[in-house]
Amino acid sequence: MTEITTNSEQETLNWALSFAKNLKPGDIIALEGDLGAGKTTLCKGICKGLGFNGMVNSPSYSIVHEYPNKPPIYHLDLYRLKKTDDLYDIGIELFTFSKGITFIEWPQMAGNFPLNITHSIKIKIAGENDRVIIST
Ligand code: ADP
Ligand code: MG
Repeated sequence: MTEITTNSEQETLNWALSFAKNLKPGDIIALEGDLGAGKTTLCKGICKGLGFNGMVNSPSYSIVHEYPNKPPIYHLDLYRLKKTDDLYDIGIELFTFSKGITFIEWPQMAGNFPLNITHSIKIKIAGENDRVIIST
């Protein structure tokens, strides 16, 4: 487990860039934290570290964004998931058994559904520009 505090969006992006070096194809990263904590910001930084420099934003309505990269990147946001059965409609197993790298915001919405998470990152808001990042 590692815990660090960042004091700006840029510091979080920097942490994300180095975190990306730990990742390999097939990894699934759970991102937890309240609205505005920085889940999408962190995801953007990690994507950059993986070589993807395009637009990264919360797939709140579409639930999943796919970014062209080697390895491919899948960005899920389960915030608006109504029931765990809906995971089958988005083809969840395409991601949880993929050779890409998958980010899942709001993984707790999946309840007991097995998401095969390999890395878990929790972000806590500690002040206007302060965030505690706990990664396991
Ligand atoms: P989430 O996806 O968790 O809802 P976002 O990444 O969309 O959150 O938004 C995080 C917001 O918090 C952004 O507006 C960002 O500029 C701001 N912010 C302020 N300080 C930090 C920090 N230390 N790390 C990350 N984001 C920060
Ligand atoms: Mg988000």
